[in-house]
Amino acid sequence: MPRGNMPRQPSRSGRQDAIRSAKPVVSKQTPAQPNARRRSAEPGNAPKSKAANKSAPTKKSDASSTYDSLNPERIRQIISGLDRMYPGATCALTHRSAWELLVATILSAQCTDVRVNMVTPILFEKYPTPQDFAALQPEQLEPDIRSTGFFRNKSKSVVGAARKIVSDFGGKVPETMDELLTLPGVARKTANVVLGTWFKKNEGVVVDTHVTRISRRLELSHHEDAQKIEQDLMQIIPRERWTDFSHEVIWHGRKLCVARNPQCADCAIEKLCHAADKTWSTVGIHKEAKP
Ligand code: SF4
Repeated sequence: MPRGNMPRQPSRSGRQDAIRSAKPVVSKQTPAQPNARRRSAEPGNAPKSKAANKSAPTKKSDASSTYDSLNPERIRQIISGLDRMYPGATCALTHRSAWELLVATILSAQCTDVRVNMVTPILFEKYPTPQDFAALQPEQLEPDIRSTGFFRNKSKSVVGAARKIVSDFGGKVPETMDELLTLPGVARKTANVVLGTWFKKNEGVVVDTHVTRISRRLELSHHEDAQKIEQDLMQIIPRERWTDFSHEVIWHGRKLCVARNPQCADCAIEKLCHAADKTWSTVGIHKEAKP
C-alpha cells in the first residue's frame, strides 16, 4: 500500500484493527473533510447523543457495534507498537540524581526539554546540592531559570522543595508518592517522573500534554482532566509498563503524533487508531476520538 502524506478515504471494505471480528463505528466524515469534522465537534453542533457519552466514552454506545476501544488485545497491540517505535524510550531531561531530575521536571512545565537541558547544567554547576538551593531566596534563583518561563513560580517551587527536602527528608528526595506530594510545586506528574525514571517505581502514569492528546486520540480515555486520564490508563495498562508507556507516548507525541497534522502514514499503530483528526487512515474514523 502506498504511503504518503495525502489524506485518503477510510476503507469502506470494513477493514479494521487486527481485532478482525470487531465492527467499527464508521463516520461518514473522512480525513479529507477536516472542516466538517471540526464543525460537528463544536459544542453547539455536537449531536445530543454524543454529549451524553462524555463521561463514559470508552465503549461505543452504538448497540450494534462490538467495537471496544479498551479491548485487552487492542491495548496489547498499542503497547507492542509503541515498543517497536520507541525502544528504550526514557526521560529526555538530563539529570544525574533524583534531585536534578526533580528540579528539571519542575522547570519543564510549559517549557521544552531542550530548553531545560540548556539551563540545568549551568544551574547545578552553580548550586550542586539541595542544601545550596535551600539557602537561596527565590529571587536569587530567578535569573538562572528565567528562560524556562514562569520563572517566579518555578523559583519558589524549587527553593521550597529544597528547603522541605533538607528539613524533613535529610537532604534526600523522598521515594514515595505521598511524601513527594508534600513538596512545593510537585504534583502527580512530577512525582511519577521521579518515581518511575529514577527510583524505578511504577506508582502512576505520567500525564502531560502529549499523553493527554494521544490517550484521547486512541480512545483510551475521553477525559480532559489529567488525574482522570491517569486513572483510566492505570486501569488498562499493566502496572509494570506504566513508566515505559509514559515515556513512549511522550516520544510519540513529539515525533509523530504531534498536535497538528500528526504523521499518521508513518505510525506503527495507525490501524488501531480512529482519531477524528488523522491525516491518513486505513480504518474508520470516530468523531469522538479527538484531541
Ligand atoms: S495514527 Fe496518527 S493520530 Fe493515530 S496515534 Fe498514529 S500518529 Fe497519532
